[in-house]
Amino acid sequence: MNDTRCPDCAVTMEETTLRSQDGFSLTINTGKRSGLLGKLGVGSTTGVDAVCCPECGLVRLYADLE
Ligand SMILES: [Zn+2]
Repeated sequence: MNDTRCPDCAVTMEETTLRSQDGFSLTINTGKRSGLLGKLGVGSTTGVDAVCCPECGLVRLYADLE
């Protein structure tokens, strides 16, 4: 993950891991969409990378497209 800045605070956001209470990594469904993710050829589900702002607590999710 590249250096990601909070859009509100302009500080570097820290990578974090998003998991369910059962300990499973969260995924997003992309399989039957015709939008951007479908065009990128992503499979039916993909993982997400999370970054969290240490100042305001904003969490951003990025689909793992590679
Ligand atoms: Zn922030």
